[in-house]
Amino acid sequence: MEESKDPLAVRDLLIDELLLDGNAKQNLTTFCQTNLDSNIHFLMDKCLDKNMIDKDEYPQTAEIENRCVHILADLWNSPESETTLGCSTTGSSEAAMLGGLALKWKWREKRIKEGKSTDKPNIITGPVQICWHKFARYFDVEIREIPMEYGRLLMNAEEVLKRVDENTIGVVPTLGVTFTLQFEDVKAISDALYKLQKDTGLDIPIHVDGASGGFLAPFIHKEVVWDFQLPRVKSINTSGHKFGLSPLGVGWVVWRTKEDLPEGLIFNVNYLGGNMPTFALNFSRPGGQIICQYYNFIRLGREGYTRVQQACLDHGIYIAEEIEKMGLFDILYDGKSGVPGAAWMLKKGVDPGFDLYDLSDRMRSRGWQIASYTLPNNCEDMVIQRVLIRHGFSHDMAELMLEDLKRCIDYLKKHQMVKKGPSTDEQPQSFHH
Ligand SMILES: *Cc1c(COP(=O)(O)O)cnc(C)c1O
Repeated sequence: MEESKDPLAVRDLLIDELLLDGNAKQNLTTFCQTNLDSNIHFLMDKCLDKNMIDKDEYPQTAEIENRCVHILADLWNSPESETTLGCSTTGSSEAAMLGGLALKWKWREKRIKEGKSTDKPNIITGPVQICWHKFARYFDVEIREIPMEYGRLLMNAEEVLKRVDENTIGVVPTLGVTFTLQFEDVKAISDALYKLQKDTGLDIPIHVDGASGGFLAPFIHKEVVWDFQLPRVKSINTSGHKFGLSPLGVGWVVWRTKEDLPEGLIFNVNYLGGNMPTFALNFSRPGGQIICQYYNFIRLGREGYTRVQQACLDHGIYIAEEIEKMGLFDILYDGKSGVPGAAWMLKKGVDPGFDLYDLSDRMRSRGWQIASYTLPNNCEDMVIQRVLIRHGFSHDMAELMLEDLKRCIDYLKKHQMVKKGPSTDEQPQSFHH
């Protein structure tokens, strides 16, 4: 580190070292976008020096961010899509924090008005992504996470009603649960909360974690009612860098109407003589991802997004069908009604002489990254394997992957791998991508 070096030599050394990272296109574990066209590379390069938080210096980036917010508000059927508020974030995690904070502030305002205590807020979720645990811990809210049970891997209305009380700041269903890729039933939960309000007066809002689903449901699951069409849904987050098809580093949160975002959370920044409301945990952040999100909206349109997502969905369904035909596995998620992908487990009572961790490990020898993990409480003894299908994964790649899977199974059978036994500290506990 003392002396300077030849930049090309350093660059090439780094490129060589990074060969040890997996190949992103064969990574069937991540939800994040890995297929980015040359125009996106071009735009990212042009925007490399733009700091999106400097609304004064980069007013047009701010304008484009704002357009994206209103496109999403419209896509999600906000009754006031032209005037409502929302913002870009670094991803769904920051967006979830902002959504959660708005719920907490709204609840507190109401409690103070009623002269009631505000020291025990709680939030109700199904089996959620880790960002909601972070929200709860960082912002001092009790999380009442509905655990999975055999035969019920998602939140349902009955379980929500068992946990709500006057201190519930909101209920958070997930559209595209991390572990199983399925959608939780927002409409059923909303209906149950209506009935609760009629019976008890408790008025509990909903925030939807649409990290994946926010960019899927409007295009390929149009029959699902989950968004601002339900008046109880007050805010939605999504990841632009997942099925929004934008490069890593962008998420979005949008409120139903501007009244649903408490004013106290907004910082007003003067810019170009106007007033720019901002709400964020971060400060400096690159603007390129936002520009690329807008590029995708304009370049693809509804038609393009639908085509891309439908192709992914079809490949996931195909993989689930082929996996089922192998006879070794029970399908946990058939790829049809949620996020593009599939999930399966070893058939009960079948002992092929290896486990799913061995199979994931063996697939790695052909470059494939396929997650195996245990489900969270109360199904920790269920080990599942899951693939996610993203833009850029072709039918041909699906065939190649399935061939390799069969080859790896044959290999493991032939070599009679002995089960490693319950060395639980070596196995991944659970999985949170
Ligand atoms: C990925 C994901 C998150 C976190 O999103 P980031 O964009 O990675 O911050 C939150 N919730 C769900 C359901 C997710 O799938």
